[in-house]
Amino acid sequence: MNTIVTNYPSPPASQAIERADRKTIISIQNIGFQRLLHSAWERIPFYRRIWQSAGVDISLIKDLKDIINLPIITKKDLEQSLRDYPPFGDYQGDYPCYRIQASAGSTGYPKPIFHTSHDWDIITNFWARRLAAQDVRKGDMVQIAFTYALFIPAFTSTEGALKIGATIIPTGSGAVTASERQVEIAHRWGTTVVGTTGAYALRLAEVAEKMGYDPKRDFKIRVMFHTAEPLTEEMRARIEAKWGCKSYNNYGSVETGAPAWECCEQNGMHINEDGYYFEVVDPETGQPLPDGEQGALVVTSLFKEAAPVIRYMIGDIATIIDEPCKCGCTLRRIVKVAGRLDDMLKFKGVTVYPTSIESVLHRLQEVGDEYCIIIDSVDGQDQVILRVETIFKGEQLDQLHHKLQQALKVHIGVQIPIEFCSPGELQKELNVDQRIKSRRVVDRRK
Ligand SMILES: [Zn+2]
Repeated sequence: MNTIVTNYPSPPASQAIERADRKTIISIQNIGFQRLLHSAWERIPFYRRIWQSAGVDISLIKDLKDIINLPIITKKDLEQSLRDYPPFGDYQGDYPCYRIQASAGSTGYPKPIFHTSHDWDIITNFWARRLAAQDVRKGDMVQIAFTYALFIPAFTSTEGALKIGATIIPTGSGAVTASERQVEIAHRWGTTVVGTTGAYALRLAEVAEKMGYDPKRDFKIRVMFHTAEPLTEEMRARIEAKWGCKSYNNYGSVETGAPAWECCEQNGMHINEDGYYFEVVDPETGQPLPDGEQGALVVTSLFKEAAPVIRYMIGDIATIIDEPCKCGCTLRRIVKVAGRLDDMLKFKGVTVYPTSIESVLHRLQEVGDEYCIIIDSVDGQDQVILRVETIFKGEQLDQLHHKLQQALKVHIGVQIPIEFCSPGELQKELNVDQRIKSRRVVDRRK
């Protein structure tokens, strides 16, 4: 058995965790869980309230095997808490708050999340682990093109990179540093690593090409790391082909921090299991599912003091596997993230995620990087339209239309009405240069 390390270290000390055996991981998780359970009961009215009304006796919850006796909470519970206990809700707990970050506010009011200095330190350690696994090294020039705002990953990735000795170029997203300037800085200052959403990585390649650069030849970029948006394999392939670099996915959110990351194998995202306990449950019944089965992810942040999540249904459908990874890391992996439950569409009786549509689109060289799915109500009926950019016209466009419909039918089982637009049109409409993260579904029914 490995030594038990329970202080959620950054690399290189985190190697002991990343290569620990299952028994050691479970011991560490149980230590964190017991501490969390009692601090939540004593200091966080939200959990005490919910557990009391569910009739939970926490003295009967001995270890993680008993966690299934705690109710699952959702985004709706946090939203209700915000309404009932304004302005911060009663899920933060009575801890000295070091800083507040919030959800990007895709719908409604942004959800504030308190962090103590301990929480912040650990989340940035987890970022350091991610980046080290993604070949970011001491001396790298790391350009952070995420939005520095209430949106958390710009700050946490910055501090994670600093912890491994990299130099930060904090350009922020296109909202504060224009895309042309981002490209110019990357070129002149010799950026070697870029942190950005996948969609913005493609946008930057396009801008670089327009400026007369060859993204592959004229830059020193070796690694791009992403978070905040789903990264399909097809999008990754586009990014890597354009920039001639490696592109890595990371899984997280403001409520959870930095739970999972891809290693050099790019084959699923390892969970920082000392700090997080992940379950997969049936989205309808909440019943736990075994490793290898697809279901809704439920997460518990074991290390957090303020605003921890305990059995939080994050809203993503995915699978967790416990199989050896070629990289040598023993931490379980999240694989096949199908998409957010919120983004799930029912179309002609078929369940469709925007990411599946994106996979189909990005396989075809003839269509651009941007797309959006419009849902509208026409004569009381829901109507879905897929909008994509292409340079094609006339007969070529008819052929593309046919090809795309065939591909949709084969890969997602349903054809969707398509509206083609010319290059740049969607970019303008979707405000690609300024946005914090992409929204693929535009619901005009409300
Ligand atoms: Zn691995």
